[in-house]
Amino acid sequence: TNAKPRGQSLYEEACEVIPGGVNSATRYVGRPYAFTGADGAYITDADGGRYVDYHAAFGAILLGHNEPLVNDAVRGALDGVDLIGAGVTPIEIEFAKLICSVIPSAEMVTNAMSGSEATAYAIRLARAETGRSLIVKFQGGYHGWHDAVARNVISPPSLAYGMDPVSAGILEQALTSTLIAEFNDLSSVQALFDEHPEQIAAVILEPIPHNVGALLPTQEFVEGLRSLTSSAGALLIFDEVITGFRHTLGGYQSVCGITPDLTTFGKAVANGFPLAGLAGPRSLMSRFTSAGGDVALLGTFNGYPIGCAAGIATVSYLRDNPSFYARTETLGERMRSGLRSIVDEFGFAGQVRGFGSVFVLYFMDAPVLGYRDLMRNDDKAYLEFHRRMADAGFFMLPMSLKRNHVSGAHTEDDIDRTLEASRDVLKGMLHDGVLTT
Ligand code: PMP
Repeated sequence: TNAKPRGQSLYEEACEVIPGGVNSATRYVGRPYAFTGADGAYITDADGGRYVDYHAAFGAILLGHNEPLVNDAVRGALDGVDLIGAGVTPIEIEFAKLICSVIPSAEMVTNAMSGSEATAYAIRLARAETGRSLIVKFQGGYHGWHDAVARNVISPPSLAYGMDPVSAGILEQALTSTLIAEFNDLSSVQALFDEHPEQIAAVILEPIPHNVGALLPTQEFVEGLRSLTSSAGALLIFDEVITGFRHTLGGYQSVCGITPDLTTFGKAVANGFPLAGLAGPRSLMSRFTSAGGDVALLGTFNGYPIGCAAGIATVSYLRDNPSFYARTETLGERMRSGLRSIVDEFGFAGQVRGFGSVFVLYFMDAPVLGYRDLMRNDDKAYLEFHRRMADAGFFMLPMSLKRNHVSGAHTEDDIDRTLEASRDVLKGMLHDGVLTT
């Protein structure tokens, strides 16, 4: 009866052979979790604990875990071509056509296994096209783990998101070639263009910077970025790795009506199977060496048929069922308004934010416009809320990634039970003095 929990044993076993016992830093969520099951809106840990899942594999799970529609397509693809590495397969063409039909700025598309690869291609292409070296990104924005985008904050001390640069082992030139602006602050971007005339190759934007929080861009901001980059001869890259398929079929560009030069996508596009890509106009995409150009496009697993099968199943389902986004948005709104009522009832400093199926409760006062504002979040209360919610059976993103996801498998009942638990947990936190009014 005093046996060690299986999750603990698995974690210890993992630590022997996997650095830190987890396969990425953001997978360690404050305690040794080991999971053995996933189904619809639920995940199950190694000790039988069952959770309503709002982590959704960083948002990659959109239709629900182990969605039969997608898994069946994958099973079907397993009987076809596995991987040849020469030529093209019909499924890659079908996937590319589908993407071009749903992303407004996409005339051509190439695919990769991860979002990081897609953004690396985009940045290299932008540098080649412009003959310039500098890249502008936004404070707190995340575009992958590679060197080209490895800086995060304008100036220390602001370690709320983690380290800056995000890693040791990066060449100085890679760091100094990344300039950081403030989200929703066009003047900070203008200042960089003024300071570095004709040296900026591209501005890369997460239209909703979900990696620090569900901050919405103002229309003026995205329109301003479009005209600033165009007049400066720089490219505008929309990194829609999250926003691409989570919020709407065409990405945030179809919400705000702005056409970026290049678009990256990934995560939810294949409902949890590894697939990402880069889309853009023929003129830019033809610079790739595959088309006889001078920008290397390489990768053993590019065009991966299993990923394409999952992507086709996911995207065509979303296309044929327009009510999907309306439903997940309604559920997201039910969560957000429910959380707002609880904040109002208890009277602590709380801000509920989100978009569509994404929701988050910050422990702070308004305004919440940019990364700067998120510095005021009470991270201790935030982590404690998520920890206690996990104990109650509701799994959210417990780290500094401030967002949570509703999937197509969640029900109104899941949301209502989450709200009930949230109320109890917050009441307990107030009672224990972890949270004050
Ligand atoms: N861009 C954005 C906006 C992301 O959110 C992520 C992943 N969190 C990436 C790029 C990198 O994608 P991946 O983890 O698949 O390499």
